[in-house]
Amino acid sequence: MRIELKGIGVAYKDWKLENFSSVFKSGSFVSVLGPSGSGKTTLLRLLCGLEKPSSGKILFGEKDVTKTAPEERGLGVVFQGNSLFSHLDVFGNVAFGLKMKKEKDLEKKVSEALRLVHFEGFGRRNVNFLSGGEQKRVAIARAIAFNPSALLLDEPFNGLDGKLKEGMKLFLKELRAKTGLTVILVTHDLDEAFFLSDRLIVMNNGSKEQEGTPFDVLLKPANSFVKDFFSDYFVVEAKQQKSRKGNVIIGNFSVPAQSGSGKPVIIFKKTNYRFIDGKT
Ligand code: ADP
Ligand code: MG
Repeated sequence: MRIELKGIGVAYKDWKLENFSSVFKSGSFVSVLGPSGSGKTTLLRLLCGLEKPSSGKILFGEKDVTKTAPEERGLGVVFQGNSLFSHLDVFGNVAFGLKMKKEKDLEKKVSEALRLVHFEGFGRRNVNFLSGGEQKRVAIARAIAFNPSALLLDEPFNGLDGKLKEGMKLFLKELRAKTGLTVILVTHDLDEAFFLSDRLIVMNNGSKEQEGTPFDVLLKPANSFVKDFFSDYFVVEAKQQKSRKGNVIIGNFSVPAQSGSGKPVIIFKKTNYRFIDGKT
């Protein structure tokens, strides 16, 4: 589903978001980036209706949902922290939204969602004894079980350790490819954003500093804030793209392409990159 924010404003005591506009195309994966306190979570709260804008409009497709209640918006949301119901098992958690909607095919819908997060057959598990990654997967299953019009994720991989986090990133990429869902991911992890997103929105203190493909934002930072924010990274344009999903050619090397940048490029983190001149 296409989502549009039109001139949105919110004001707290000593912080405000003014005249924020953005379009999230149907089926796109957009990451909202920015330091702590920049307004990332506020944007998600506005989208799902937990926060009322003081000005502006929110459109889902053609429909104006600015005044629509959260439960009527049909979004799948995973907020920060562990938001599972501890008195319910895995099945109960995933079935929660479906039961509210009086869904008939409960068993089938829940097992489909659990299959998508690779947790099929574990419906009777106690959620309190799951690992961090498993809990996140159940939370995502709950968010996608009722076939939401878009998936909103607020720092879903926070607190997960290296290997698990990598696995979750792959999982999310695959989930998106399988379902074609519009995904809006809030994160302060640039690696995550580059790996997953078609577009980035860079926030700073309630303002949008820049919006664009990872390639554009890295190569043409709009201002010194954005330039500094991405200063740990650089981008190499590939010579040739073998196939849409396949590898790209950089020099003599064929490396896995990460789609979504708009152009075949590889984004490197400076600290993870080593130049060897052939003599060493
Ligand atoms: P981020 O998710 O980017 O870290 P938030 O969107 O949570 O940032 O918050 C942006 C700013 O708004 C912060 O300074 C925060 O303290 C403030 N804020 C968020 N929600 C409220 C609220 N309900 N009342 C007052 N201030 C708030
Ligand atoms: Mg936040």
